[in-house]
Amino acid sequence: MADVRVQNLTKRFDDVVAVKNLSLECKDREFMVFLGPSGCGKTTTLRSIAGLEHPDEGDIYIDNNQVNDLPPADRDVAFVFQFYALYPHMTVYDNMAFPLKAVKMPKPEIEQRIKEVSAVLRIERLLNRTPSKLSGGEMQRVALGRAMVRRPKVFLMDEPLTNLDAKLRSEMRAELKRLQKDIGATTIYVTHDQLEAMSMGDKIAVMNQGVAQQIGTPGEVYDHPASLFVASFVGSPAMNLLDCEYRQEDGKSVLIVGENDFILTISDELGKKIQDDATDSNLILGIRAEDVFVRDEAAEDTVQAEVYVVEPLGSENIIDLRIGENMLKVKTLPTVQPDIGQTIDMWLDKNRMHLFDKTTEKAIS
Ligand code: ATP
Repeated sequence: MADVRVQNLTKRFDDVVAVKNLSLECKDREFMVFLGPSGCGKTTTLRSIAGLEHPDEGDIYIDNNQVNDLPPADRDVAFVFQFYALYPHMTVYDNMAFPLKAVKMPKPEIEQRIKEVSAVLRIERLLNRTPSKLSGGEMQRVALGRAMVRRPKVFLMDEPLTNLDAKLRSEMRAELKRLQKDIGATTIYVTHDQLEAMSMGDKIAVMNQGVAQQIGTPGEVYDHPASLFVASFVGSPAMNLLDCEYRQEDGKSVLIVGENDFILTISDELGKKIQDDATDSNLILGIRAEDVFVRDEAAEDTVQAEVYVVEPLGSENIIDLRIGENMLKVKTLPTVQPDIGQTIDMWLDKNRMHLFDKTTEKAIS
C-alpha cells in the first residue's frame, strides 16, 4: 500500500480550468473522499492520479515517487468506475482472472488470489455465473474483486455506488468501508453525495470549481466548515444561513439578524474577532437544524417564530420556522408536532453557531 500526494495540480481543458492548484495527501491505508457538485474537478483529479490525464502544472507522487510521466499501467493503481465494465460473455471467475492473465501470472496463483478475494467479498457462489445473472450489488462486488486481485498500491473509485438502489447503496457503503479497513488499502473515492462522504471517509476533500475548499475529517468538515460553500454542501438538512449585521449596542456586541428580525448578544471576544477578521459588518450566520430548539414557554433568549410546515421523518421531525423573511429548519423529536401557523418560541445554541464573512464567504474562526 502507499501514500498518494498531489502537489499544486492544475489541469485545463481549453478554456475550462478543471482543477486549480490543488494540493492534498492521502496517507497509507487512508480512505479519502473527493466530495463536490458535478463539474468541480473530482474525476479529473482522480484521472490525473491514475495517469489518464497529464497535469498542466504540478506533480503527482505515489510513495514519494513523482509519477507524472509514468503510464497508468506502471502506477500500480486500480480504478473502479460507476459502470462496472465487466466482460458480459465471461464468467465472474474469468472476469477476475483477466487482469492477472494479462500479466502472465501462473494459473495456481490466479486461483489462489481469486479464492481469497471472493471469500472476502462473499462472491464464491457467483464465480461460474455471467454478469447478466448478477444483481447490481453483486456486479459491483465483482468489479471490486477484479481490482482487488491485482493487489494494487492504491484503489481509485469514481462514484462506484451510483447505479445501485437506495437500500443496496447503504449496505454497500458499510461493506466497502469495512472492506477497506480489513484489507488496509489506500483508497481515493469520488462522490457528490455528502452522506456517502461523511459515512465512509477518514478524510474528505470538499471541492468546488476546481478548488479544494477544505480538507479534513468528517467531524472537522461538519463542525468547522471553512467556507459558506462547505457549510451549505455538507449536512442534511443543509445548514441554516441567515444574513446578519455585527454592531456594538449599549457597549454590547450584537448580531442583528435579517431585517431586525431578532438580535443575538455575542461575547466581546467574538465581537473582537469579527472586527479583526471580517471585511465589514455584513456577515452570514450559520446554524444547523439540530442546534436550534423550540420551547413551550418564552424565556429571555427565545425568539418568536411561526410554524411554516412540519416534515415528519419517522425518527425525527424537521420543523420549518418563519421569522420575518427568514426560514429556519429545526430538528426535533417526532413527538414535537406544532400546528401550521402556530407561534412558537425558539432559541439557538450560540456555542454551535458559525459566522461567515459575506464578501469572502470564509468562516470567521
Ligand atoms: P461529475 O461529478 O459530473 O463527474 P466532476 O467533479 O468529476 O463532475 P470533472 O469531470 O473533473 O468534474 O470536470 C471538471 C470540469 O472539466 C468540467 O467543467 C468538465 O466539463 C471539464 N472537463 C472534464 N473532462 C473534460 C474533457 N475531456 N474535455 C473538456 N472538458 C472537460
